[in-house]
Amino acid sequence: MGYKTYTCPIAKRCGGCELLAVPYDLQLKRKQQAMKELFREVCAQDALAVDPIRGMDVSLAYRHKAATPFAPGSRATGGRMRCGFYERGTHRIVYCKECLVEAKGARRILCDVARVADELHIPAYAEDRGRGVLRHAVVRMGYATHDVLLTIVTNGTTLPHAERFVQRLRRLHPELTVIVQNVNDRRTNAILGTRNRTLFGPGVMHDKLLGCTFEIGPTSFYQTNPAQTEVLYRLAIEGIDKDEAGNPETLLDAYCGTGTIGICAAKAAERENCSLQVIGVELVSNAVGCARRNARANDVSEKCRFVCSDATEWMASQQRSAVDAVVLDPPRAGSTPEFLAGVVSLAPKQVVYVSCNPATQVRDLATLREGGYAVRRIIPVDLFPHTKHVETVVHLSR
Ligand code: SAH
Repeated sequence: MGYKTYTCPIAKRCGGCELLAVPYDLQLKRKQQAMKELFREVCAQDALAVDPIRGMDVSLAYRHKAATPFAPGSRATGGRMRCGFYERGTHRIVYCKECLVEAKGARRILCDVARVADELHIPAYAEDRGRGVLRHAVVRMGYATHDVLLTIVTNGTTLPHAERFVQRLRRLHPELTVIVQNVNDRRTNAILGTRNRTLFGPGVMHDKLLGCTFEIGPTSFYQTNPAQTEVLYRLAIEGIDKDEAGNPETLLDAYCGTGTIGICAAKAAERENCSLQVIGVELVSNAVGCARRNARANDVSEKCRFVCSDATEWMASQQRSAVDAVVLDPPRAGSTPEFLAGVVSLAPKQVVYVSCNPATQVRDLATLREGGYAVRRIIPVDLFPHTKHVETVVHLSR
């Protein structure tokens, strides 16, 4: 564990790693303390202490996804297209040649997209006028595979010199296995649009978590720190009891994305010769399609069923005892009172709540406690070293 601090020439302006000047062991202590305070009441009510935070041994190069915005060059850049990071709280772009927390080589690919585009006179998108072509680029690098997916986001379907663009990028970066054009012609801050066109390779990449293979498309949600995601998923899954008599148990994976947690759980149960049926519920239909393919690729399609629905609506349509356990992993806003009320009325024995925003999680835990659940374990995981973010896994049972 590092006592060392790291320096980055653009740390102050970029603002992505706001804790970079704090030694990593001290960052973890602060996060532990923050979680102790946040969960103080929960801990007092259920007579428990927050588990020690799970940190990283090496807290650098952990982000396997990197992105850049593009903007037209100016006199200050010698006319060269701008790329890098948005300066904190603005849309001014700070150039970045190498980022400490990103997987090695990812930033170089992004910078070369700008360089090659300049050579071919492909114009960057000018946000203020809504004109131009290149808006963003996103690189995803496999953690357990050598797959590298580059997504080039354009304003509209036209990408001039697409073929030469791809050829030159591949020559500079033979490690690229997929290049996709994503079209985003809306005046929005969202990076990605919904339409994709494959320019090179199979259009998707694959990565592995806990021995399971997952397909990742240009618009799929996939955790950015795979090493710590394995820690997080293992902690979530190990809390789920298996029926010792061998009776089939049913697990609901709510807000399941591409089905990663449910599939890892089904596979882990299989290894222990237990029978676990998984129902995954997810709002985004592309992700549901991905989840179904992922279940097939991991030979658990008999055990995993995925439903495209709002989690709250799905919950409302279920009968008591429909599931034995629930894992939920909602977005930062947390879950809804109705979903939580649904959990209470379905009355699963166990609930595992994975959260990327412990503040909304604490709010939601109060509803589950009122419904008869007790908190058994609270485990913080550091998915984003050098930032203030903390993920938490909370186990409850009734
Ligand atoms: N468990 C997955 C995804 C977590 S991110 C993983 O670890 O990869 C949260 C997911 O919730 C996203 O995929 C998002 O599309 C989905 N989501 C957001 N609102 C939802 C809702 N109301 N109902 C169902 N899913 C929702």
